[in-house]
Amino acid sequence: MRYDQARWTQAGDSSEGTADQYEPLLSEKNTETVAVESPLPDDLTRDELELPALEEPQLARHYTRLSQMNYGVDSGPYPLGSCTMKYNPKFTEDVAALGDAAVHPDRSDRSVQGTLGLMAGLQDYLARIGGMDAVSLQPPAGAAGEFTGILVAKAFHEQHGEGETRDEIIVPDSAHGTNFASAALAGYDVVELPSGEDGRVDLEALEAAASERTALFMLTNPNTLGLFERDIEEIAEIIHGAGGLLYYDGANLNALLGRARPGDMGFDIMHYNVHKTFATPHGGGGPGAGPVGVTDELAEFLPAPRVREAGGGGSRGHEGEARGTDGVYELFDPESTVGKVHGFEGNWLVLVKTYAYIARLGDDGLADASAKAVLNANYLASQVDYDVPFEPFHHEFVASAGDQDAADVAKRMLDYGVHPPTTKWPEIVPEALMTEPTEIESKATLDQLAEAFDRVAGEDDETLAEAPNRTTSRRIDQASAARNLRLSWQALDGE
Ligand SMILES: *Cc1c(COP(=O)(O)O)cnc(C)c1O
Repeated sequence: MRYDQARWTQAGDSSEGTADQYEPLLSEKNTETVAVESPLPDDLTRDELELPALEEPQLARHYTRLSQMNYGVDSGPYPLGSCTMKYNPKFTEDVAALGDAAVHPDRSDRSVQGTLGLMAGLQDYLARIGGMDAVSLQPPAGAAGEFTGILVAKAFHEQHGEGETRDEIIVPDSAHGTNFASAALAGYDVVELPSGEDGRVDLEALEAAASERTALFMLTNPNTLGLFERDIEEIAEIIHGAGGLLYYDGANLNALLGRARPGDMGFDIMHYNVHKTFATPHGGGGPGAGPVGVTDELAEFLPAPRVREAGGGGSRGHEGEARGTDGVYELFDPESTVGKVHGFEGNWLVLVKTYAYIARLGDDGLADASAKAVLNANYLASQVDYDVPFEPFHHEFVASAGDQDAADVAKRMLDYGVHPPTTKWPEIVPEALMTEPTEIESKATLDQLAEAFDRVAGEDDETLAEAPNRTTSRRIDQASAARNLRLSWQALDGE
């Protein structure tokens, strides 16, 4: 705490930043010319390459410095709402390093029984947690899970002769952008559902939107305002009554773990963001995993392959053809599978970490995690000066920055040594600060976060507009950075 206080005083005292840290690329440090030989045609290859030539201490320092220029869950609190940026326990890395990393995906089922057993175990864990009957581990992210789930719904409607006529997917206006994108990518017309005054699904509006054209309704529960959709049973009735299916966006499952299950609420399909709920590394473009769970009647459409106990039995036993094995577990292709959505069995090592996390916590540990996630969000909100218009929220809350610009608030919070919340979304809250502290933070850290919020709440626009002052990079042009991607340092060369 002392250290942070000192930082804050500095940040408060000086609007001139001192962050002049610059770490050169490895290739800017030292290189040597290496001759290369290649069987490829001459016009496609070079004879020599300039490669970095560095010794271990230089390398160790390079990567340590880079890690210090960044901010992550190992550096401090990271209350990025909807993203569930929780600490990733290091024991899961040890488990992932135990030997599975060396298993070639083309080995015979018989020779990788331990790996298949772990996959089967994880399918079961996830099915139990979500109240689903069958799970595919293949999709590599939440958004990929959404797309997969939509393909499953499409296959189901096609089987019922309604593939052409059910051409709409309903998505609430508070939903994550990936919901709209996944639906559009799968070829559907997206019907945006305005939220009711209380921030929840407006039943009358839903009733008006649902029809024989509805393929799917995609819902996050608790929604992105942290509010539990308490009319979920009526919502399920409306959608099922219209012949549509109900999709659960699992990004906020952290709030329900061990307490309530989407399957029991009437959801037919869901994805799990294991890099959110089950604490596997997150960000930097992955790898993540977004397993998909479905009810029994949809299991035959899941991506191939899945794993099951050999010799049938149970809800996993009756589908499709096994690939031939004499082990206890076997891979098989579900009967009417939508095909593959990722190579082999998905991002396997991420799934090993997920398994380890769930196994270590157990039922009680998972229920405890969700209780603390909700308690922490409510405690933090009670300590923050900004207004929180929608209540009662669960694992996250959306405060309004009021007259301040939420993006400036976020930049300024960086100066106080904490990561800011998600900003400007959902749009129903003006200048939204969507905040999710997660269950891992102590009261002392929550107080530190609250103090950062409150200091910024008391500052003027000019101070905010100049922030951040104490980060490695000062204010960057975010829009250009996103629109004019430069993925190679060489592209900057010669400018
Ligand atoms: C993160 C998130 C997603 C997308 O998940 P990814 O794993 O990032 O692809 C979807 N919906 C909500 C509500 C999310 O927060």
